[in-house]
Order: sequence, then C-alpha cells, then structure tokens
Amino acid sequence: MSRTPQPSRLNLTALAQGEQVLAGRTPLADLARLAAEVPPEAAAPADIRWDIRVEWRPRSGASDELWLHLEAGAEVPLSCQRCLAPAVHSLEVDRWFRFVESEAVAEAEDDESEEDLLVLEPQFDLLALLEDELLMSLPLVPMHAQCPSEPVFRAGEDEAPAPARPNPFAALAQLKKKAD
Ligand SMILES: [Zn+2]
Repeated sequence: MSRTPQPSRLNLTALAQGEQVLAGRTPLADLARLAAEVPPEAAAPADIRWDIRVEWRPRSGASDELWLHLEAGAEVPLSCQRCLAPAVHSLEVDRWFRFVESEAVAEAEDDESEEDLLVLEPQFDLLALLEDELLMSLPLVPMHAQCPSEPVFRAGEDEAPAPARPNPFAALAQLKKKAD
C-alpha cells in the first residue's frame, strides 16, 4: 500500500523528482473560510477536485526553478443576492506558480513576474493555496442565472428576510432622494 501524501504537508521537491503529478479531492468543509460562504440551508456540496503538477525548469547561469501548476474545480452553493436561495456556482482554478527562496525575493520579483510567486517551504500547504485561489474566484455578486422562484415568504415568517447585502439600486435610489 502506498502512502498518500497529505495535501497540507507536501514535499514538493521530492514530488518534482518523482511522479510530478498528484490529484485528490478535499471536502469543502476542510476549507473553513470558503465553507463560511456556503449558506447553512444549502445541500451538502460535493468535494473539491484538484490536481497539481510540479516540475524543475532549468535556467541558464542559475539554479533550476521549481514551478507548480494547480487546477481545481468546485461546485459551491452561495446565497443568491436576488432571491436569497442557495445558487450553485462553479469555481475554477488554472494557474502557474513559481517558487523562490524567500519573501524578500518574492517581493523584489513580484512586479515583473506574470506568474504568481510562492516561497518554497519544506512542507507546502496545498490546501491553503487551494482555498486562497478558490476565494479569489468567488463571484462578486452570486446570483442564479434564473431564480427558481420570485422571493416568497416562508411559512411562519410574516416579513421578508433582509437581503444579505444592500441592494445597489436601492442605495442609488436613496442617494437620488437626498439630492432632490
Ligand atoms: Zn436566485
């Protein structure tokens, strides 16, 4: 039986010298900041699927560089900002990263690098990177393409639930009222 590497504690240099690729699934609940975006009434989301590829790239006159490609996909229920019911959004990540030896180098080279820079750690936390990237791919205003129903009052509630975020049109209307 082969040992499955822990995605939160990966030895990337060893991986780059071996199979170079690794794929897995992670329960959304394991990524606490992302899980906090999921409305409690939503059906349990499917696991996040991810795969990575790591490779050494030679440089002339300098030591080889370690690169990582991350691809991931997740179906995440988010609160629709129109009807407030959970709306499932597909999040996708497809990105290259280059490892540097220190934060100082990362800061110095960040401006002229198209790829993202990461500091190489002996135990790389892939789940932290995965969560950061998924959080950045969240839609600004989650919404159904077509809401399943007009907002309705649920039984036992005599008032409509307050919207999770202020409606920008309502805010605009307020401004206009003040200007009059
Ligand atoms: Zn909706």
